[in-house]
Amino acid sequence: MNRLKYIDEFRDPQIAHHLLAEIKAISHKPIRLMEVCGTHTMAIGRYGLRSLLPAHIQLISGPGCPVCVTSTQEIDMMIKLASQDVIVTTFGDLMRVPGSYTSLQQERAKGADVRIVYSPFDALNIASKNPTRPVVFLGVGFETTAPGIAATIAEAKRQDIKNFFVFSAHKLIPPAMEALVSSPDLKIDGFICPGHVSTIIGLEPYRKLAEVYKVPCVITGFEPVDILQGILMLVKQLKNEEPKAEIQYTRVVKPEGNPKAMELMFSVFSPCEATWRGIGAIPESGLTLKDDYAAYDARLHFDMEVGKVKEPPGCRCGDVLKGLIIPPECPLFGKVCLPTHPVGPCMVSSEGSCAAYYKYRDWEEKHG
Ligand code: SF4
Repeated sequence: MNRLKYIDEFRDPQIAHHLLAEIKAISHKPIRLMEVCGTHTMAIGRYGLRSLLPAHIQLISGPGCPVCVTSTQEIDMMIKLASQDVIVTTFGDLMRVPGSYTSLQQERAKGADVRIVYSPFDALNIASKNPTRPVVFLGVGFETTAPGIAATIAEAKRQDIKNFFVFSAHKLIPPAMEALVSSPDLKIDGFICPGHVSTIIGLEPYRKLAEVYKVPCVITGFEPVDILQGILMLVKQLKNEEPKAEIQYTRVVKPEGNPKAMELMFSVFSPCEATWRGIGAIPESGLTLKDDYAAYDARLHFDMEVGKVKEPPGCRCGDVLKGLIIPPECPLFGKVCLPTHPVGPCMVSSEGSCAAYYKYRDWEEKHG
């Protein structure tokens, strides 16, 4: 199949307008739909979907940017690692995220050995080429990222590389979604569920949200027609008062997910409590290395003591990540906090809601 033609179908303006007309015909009551994935937030902004939808349908962003949900204490721990005689390796997005007093980028400018890598295997290669120095990979990400990091740790064990470590700050998405729908402060009428994470976890974890909490869930792709179709499916469920878990992104996501990737992930990691920025501690929402792989756990081998945690003054990232406010409602948005001078992580990351709202101004028509 011609790939461009295939993608064109999911960007076809006529199909998009047809879907919009159907959404408008069915939906009349105010509803709040949360897109859980940062890539959705970016796509919604890029294609101006927020401004095309009727005023009573509000799209709110959720905790779907891994860098953004990493707690300030974990950022401080990463910076603490960089202050020791360690080669710290990380994906680029983490570099500018502010900790309590400094960032990895600032520490690198002062001489810390912090290196950007594009895969955890790059970090393993650095470890094998520098056998006399500890190399720590900063493991930040959701179920999409964790299996690759698990494979790298297993490979380090197979090759008996003893100077490679992982600082695991991974997060699991379904427990965070459950924490949000359990909160009395929040009103979420439906979830636009993350396409990438769902390729791994499949449909099953969302059934509980639909069946127990009565919140419709649709796993949705990232092209404009995907997103509108996902919204239409949610709107239909709400109209029929039949909440369920469904897949719109059928060309990529299978109901069973990717069992091999899940097996690999849980052969190296176990679920543990994790602290999410803005949400707090959520049981079974993080990943810790199993005892068999304790030799690779950076948290067990380095000084992790950090001082009092200080959140960026005035930053409302926590409320943005919970969907309590949209980024322009933060008083610092676009004034003190800019992509060039980010105050909080949601303006730093390429998947951050504040960065998306700043880059694409499609919210202005609705929110002024
Ligand atoms: S605009 Fe900046 S300060 Fe405000 S919530 Fe977003 S990242 Fe934080």
